[in-house]
Amino acid sequence: MQCGKRQTDPAKGASPWARLVTKGQQVLLCPACQAADPLWQSRSDHCPMCDSTRLSVMLGSVVCRACGEIQTSE
Ligand SMILES: [Zn+2]
Ligand SMILES: [Zn+2]
Repeated sequence: MQCGKRQTDPAKGASPWARLVTKGQQVLLCPACQAADPLWQSRSDHCPMCDSTRLSVMLGSVVCRACGEIQTSE
C-alpha cells in the first residue's frame, strides 16, 4: 500500500502527503492515493492510550504525537 511516487519537498505549509503508521510501519500516501482510497485512515494504527492515529515511527518505536505515548516494538 506504500505509494510509489516520490515525495516532493513542500516549501512551506502543510504537506498534502498523509503520514500514517500501520502495523508499526510509517507510510506516506500522496494525495492521489488518498483520493483513490478514502478509507486509508481506517487502516492506521491507534494509540493504546488515547486512540489517536497521529502516530510516527522514531528509532523503531511508535510515538503518539497526541499524548506522547511511546510503544517499543521489543
Ligand atoms: Zn500515490
Ligand atoms: Zn496517544
